[in-house]
Amino acid sequence: MASHLTVLGSCGAWPEAGRSCSGFLLEHDGFRVVLDLGYGTLPRLFAALGSSVGAGIDAVIVTHRHPDHAVDLHALLRARWYGGRGEPPIPLYAPSGVLDLLAALEDPDDGDRAGQVFDWHPLPSSDYRIGPFRLLSMALPHWVPNAGIRLEAAGLTLAYTGDTGVDPALAELALDADLLIAEASDRYQQSTTPQVPGDDPNLHLDGRRAAEVASAAGVKRLMLSHFWPGNDRAATARAAAAIFDGPLLLADEGERITLR
Ligand SMILES: [Zn+2]
Repeated sequence: MASHLTVLGSCGAWPEAGRSCSGFLLEHDGFRVVLDLGYGTLPRLFAALGSSVGAGIDAVIVTHRHPDHAVDLHALLRARWYGGRGEPPIPLYAPSGVLDLLAALEDPDDGDRAGQVFDWHPLPSSDYRIGPFRLLSMALPHWVPNAGIRLEAAGLTLAYTGDTGVDPALAELALDADLLIAEASDRYQQSTTPQVPGDDPNLHLDGRRAAEVASAAGVKRLMLSHFWPGNDRAATARAAAAIFDGPLLLADEGERITLR
């Protein structure tokens, strides 16, 4: 059976006009896994599913609690709470901070809605089995706990960095993957980008560093994503193509690519 990846959003930090923040839908052998649900991703996910209550989602994986990766998980919570009552909880794989984000957006008097809508499993963790996949996760450096994701099934391996700086674990995460989705924030590509207190350029990748990871790991295809708003994405791609000589994809909202 065919496998596909749909891009729900490609921006880092906040969404550009007409775009959304990080999110992907992976479909493999009829099993549907959502990877991250940042700002503005849920309408595109619902369009892909043909359901505005999230029918057909088999699992959700969220790499870290930053809202550009996690805030629309709360919109999914509301869709399930108000529109999907009686449905079984959706398996959710995420660091505990993601649950803290959901709780912060809820009225404490309403109780633990997240605990009823989602069946939570912590990340990073030892292996999980989800549908046809073995889910492996690794702690990667970012301001908050971030879980790099590796999904292995017969005939398909996909790796996803979430947000990260350079780290030796990336080579293992992406080893021989059919597709590596790598953040390429390219945080300071624009000379006008203001410095923000606490900024650390070593906690994000850019095109060159993402390509170095892909080359070292021997991945078959590299998809760059998590572009800083306003960046010249083609420039990021050129920097990557100078190092990675395999097929290079740029995440683009609504794009659906065939994985096999
Ligand atoms: Zn991010």
